[in-house]
Amino acid sequence: MPTTRQWHLKSRPTGEPTRENFELVTADIPDPGPGEALIKTLYQSVDPYMRPCLTEGGTHSTWGLDEPMQADVVAEVIESNADELAVGDVITARSLWAEHAIVDASELHTSVKMRRVDPDLAPVSTALGVLGSGGTTAYFGLIDIGDPEPGDTVVVSAAAGSVGSVVGQLARIAGARAVGTAGSDEKVEWLTDELGFDAAVNYRETDDLEAALEAACPNGIDVYFDNVGGPVTDAVWPLLNDDARVPICGQIALYNDPDTPVGPRKLESLIATCARVEGFRSGNYNAEEWQDVIERLAGFIDTGELAYREDVAEGFEAAADAFLGLFEGENIGKQLVHVADRQ
Ligand code: NAP
Repeated sequence: MPTTRQWHLKSRPTGEPTRENFELVTADIPDPGPGEALIKTLYQSVDPYMRPCLTEGGTHSTWGLDEPMQADVVAEVIESNADELAVGDVITARSLWAEHAIVDASELHTSVKMRRVDPDLAPVSTALGVLGSGGTTAYFGLIDIGDPEPGDTVVVSAAAGSVGSVVGQLARIAGARAVGTAGSDEKVEWLTDELGFDAAVNYRETDDLEAALEAACPNGIDVYFDNVGGPVTDAVWPLLNDDARVPICGQIALYNDPDTPVGPRKLESLIATCARVEGFRSGNYNAEEWQDVIERLAGFIDTGELAYREDVAEGFEAAADAFLGLFEGENIGKQLVHVADRQ
């Protein structure tokens, strides 16, 4: 029986997860049933949202112990019992932390997470980042909720990450002043020197983050795209302008907090400014909206207005460490795991 490898959740973390919470397991390659296909993972995504799935009672569905965890992948179809999928097709899908998995082909019509990937259009890995969840999340949150106007100041946290790096560039394309917060000088330089951010602040090296942001945003903040929550977001509230917009995308600074987080705090500034704070999920947009945004983003890449970077960990066995690295800020751009090449 041919075998494959999967990453299982072995135990639930308290606070920051460790390598011991995960186990690399060998399993039989499953057989596809009617309407299903067997896929071989080429690239696996690791994402911050996975952290709440490891524990019970969070905002996301809880993953079971001793089972393969879920992940978005780019994969090649290697066996198919479905009319919609042929051997050799490349797709992106919500699958498993696994080298091989079964997909239900009907999800091509029902889930924004399963889409065909055209290998001639762009490197297939981009379907998990700039031309996938990272790019679409940036676009939906910034354009629909942030609604930046030329001359506005847009601040984005985790600016050198998958979502944040696209947010700042879309803000620049919209004619706004783009300012990012990030956790290293190397990231700050990438943002300002290569991505065209007007300013960036290394929040880990700043004694007074509010003062540093005030200096970077002399006209105040009109849009704050929040990827992190916690102290970075605390520093932003007092700097918001009248009628500011605050898309809440993620709260990675709080995902490992075993205690009930304090806050949101300093909200009296929202009363004074009549700012609007709004959470959103890219998964709530439909397939046509995703496709439309992916084509717009591909157009910006073609014209050279949008740059992207991928941080690729080599080998399926590297997936757990790649995931843990997200919480240490080890990634620049989209964190991926390269699992296999196309046949
Ligand atoms: P990412 O930014 O590529 O990677 C995570 C980054 O978060 C790290 O590189 C690190 O950068 C930063 N970080 C880690 N711990 C931190 C802390 N304690 N305080 C401040 N920053 C911290 O990840 P992503 O995929 O683009 O996701 C960014 C956020 O968007 C996450 O919160 C995620 O949950 C959310 N998200 C939401 C949606 C949605 O539909 N709403 C979809 C996708 C992602 P530094 O070096 O800068 O610290």
